[in-house]
Amino acid sequence: MMRKAEPFRIKMVEPIRLISREAREKALVEAGYNPFSLKGEEVYIDLLTDSGTGAMSDNQWAGIMLGDESYAGSRNFYNLSQSVKDIIGYNYTIPTHQGRGAEQVLFPLLVKKGQYVIGNMHFDTTMAHIDLSGGRPINFVTEKAFDTTTPYDFKGNFDVEKMEAFIKEKGAENVAFILITITCNSSGGQPVSMENIRAVSEVGKKYGIRVLIDAARFAENSYFIKKREKGYENKSIVEIVKETFSYAEAFTMSAKKDALVNIGGLIGIKDNEKLYTEARSMVVPLEGFPTYGGLAGRDMEALARGLREGVDEAYLEYRINQVAYLGKRLSDGGVPIQSPTGGHAVFVDAKKMLPHIPANQFPAQVLANELYLESGVRGVEIGSFLLGRDAETGEQLESPMELLRLTIPRRTYTNNHMDVVADALINIKDRAHTLKGLEFTYEPKILRHFTARLKPIE
Ligand SMILES: *Cc1c(COP(=O)(O)O)cnc(C)c1O
Repeated sequence: MMRKAEPFRIKMVEPIRLISREAREKALVEAGYNPFSLKGEEVYIDLLTDSGTGAMSDNQWAGIMLGDESYAGSRNFYNLSQSVKDIIGYNYTIPTHQGRGAEQVLFPLLVKKGQYVIGNMHFDTTMAHIDLSGGRPINFVTEKAFDTTTPYDFKGNFDVEKMEAFIKEKGAENVAFILITITCNSSGGQPVSMENIRAVSEVGKKYGIRVLIDAARFAENSYFIKKREKGYENKSIVEIVKETFSYAEAFTMSAKKDALVNIGGLIGIKDNEKLYTEARSMVVPLEGFPTYGGLAGRDMEALARGLREGVDEAYLEYRINQVAYLGKRLSDGGVPIQSPTGGHAVFVDAKKMLPHIPANQFPAQVLANELYLESGVRGVEIGSFLLGRDAETGEQLESPMELLRLTIPRRTYTNNHMDVVADALINIKDRAHTLKGLEFTYEPKILRHFTARLKPIE
């Protein structure tokens, strides 16, 4: 097959700069050995997150100029609703300022105090909004997700048997809804198969439990289904997207991922008019009037267009291949990663790379810091440092995985940038045994990973 390049050319650039090794050392000390506290300008290649960090197209920027800033009834809102109808097939659209805005409007309408909300693996703000609405989040992702070395095509799948046993045990009346997160962010951007989505929706039907989708990476999930699931190889991405959403009643979406905008979110409701009416009333005090939901008209236009670009197959092929490219360079170089790579990030297994550093000295955070010193690249720890302490005993919890996430913004970096990242980690591998664990010098009580300060243990 002919080799393919990026399906775009670059007509605007943003300069980036690698500051000196000495300046990086100083910056990391000032940041308390926590890359979250680095300034953007101290970073050369920023793989902290794929959220809101992508590049918009010329078509989206042109749409920005067509913003209709009417408080009520902006034409951009109608364009956005049309995109949702055309791509996802749902009747009702409510814009929100981002994904968590959609969660805070919708969840309290669906959860009674003490009810469970079942997921494959809930995202962290999602979990927080389930808690805030009185629900109890619980996860049933397949055990295969925790074995980083054995490849499996759909590591985002639910363990449907285990989930059904739980529903039987607790009683369907104690479950508020089932939330399918596609792709499964917390297990490494791993896809959920159509077969699994269908099976989950059948369990929902059997027990009279609603099924919703957390849709941040719905397009990447559909691309994986096309590539990996029998029977879907000749379907278009939009056909796969439509079938996916047909198994649910509503979705919440962070549009900062697959919808290719820097800010925005959505609630979508298939055809339940009563639920739509309730959500429409609640969005007013929380996010804004239902035809803008916290977004400017121009933001909604960029989103209306981004949704369409996000399901373009040539774009998705390039996108998923870039993630796979970085993964392959790393595994060829002997760096242990979660395999196969997912849709938006490569996860380096720091437990395997730094076996001499115990969980409570945060091996993946050590690796994130060393990567920054080596190359100016910023990744993020997903492990015990993020997990925190047991709320009752105050003891540090031990995460089942210690991962360094290299999250790739969409349409932003080239494979030359990926080579810089890979070379740096391959260099670090040879002296990994000399790296030292970390301890706190400042540890905030809640969401500590954003602002904590650390130092190497001598
Ligand atoms: C990003 C994300 C959210 C939250 O969305 P924000 O736009 O960051 O508020 C919810 N769920 C998943 C799966 C996400 O990836």
